[in-house]
Amino acid sequence: MKATLIHNPGDVRLEDVPDPQLHADTDGLVRVVASCICGSDLWPYRGANTFDEPWRIGHEFVGVVELIGDAVQTVGVGDFVIAPFVWSDGTCPMCQRGVQTSCDNGGGWGGEDADGNPVDAGQGEWVRVPMADGTLVATPSDPTRR
Ligand SMILES: [Zn+2]
Repeated sequence: MKATLIHNPGDVRLEDVPDPQLHADTDGLVRVVASCICGSDLWPYRGANTFDEPWRIGHEFVGVVELIGDAVQTVGVGDFVIAPFVWSDGTCPMCQRGVQTSCDNGGGWGGEDADGNPVDAGQGEWVRVPMADGTLVATPSDPTRR
């Protein structure tokens, strides 16, 4: 699939990356319809923070669930969903307080999950979403269809 990687400040490239696949029964696979450019994507773009290797960028995407693991219960295939700034379990004390960005078990897009599997970022064709139940929010209807 195609996804963006930042190589250096001011240097974002659209490249071929491995297609995502489910790694856990709590994962979902989302086909991205739109993705934001987050302020935290702009920090490395401006050179405000450093990094050694190119990495995937993009947060806060929306899209359609195309595949779910057997344990996913709150979203289903075909749902139009919103993915927030981070992925999170939705069950830990921090998530229960509404501070999903500090989830005890979650993480950031473009990083790795607890098992060391890569987690896609939002600026790509597809995203594997760890902890899909805690992370994704389904909209009442598909806003792209009127
Ligand atoms: Zn949590």
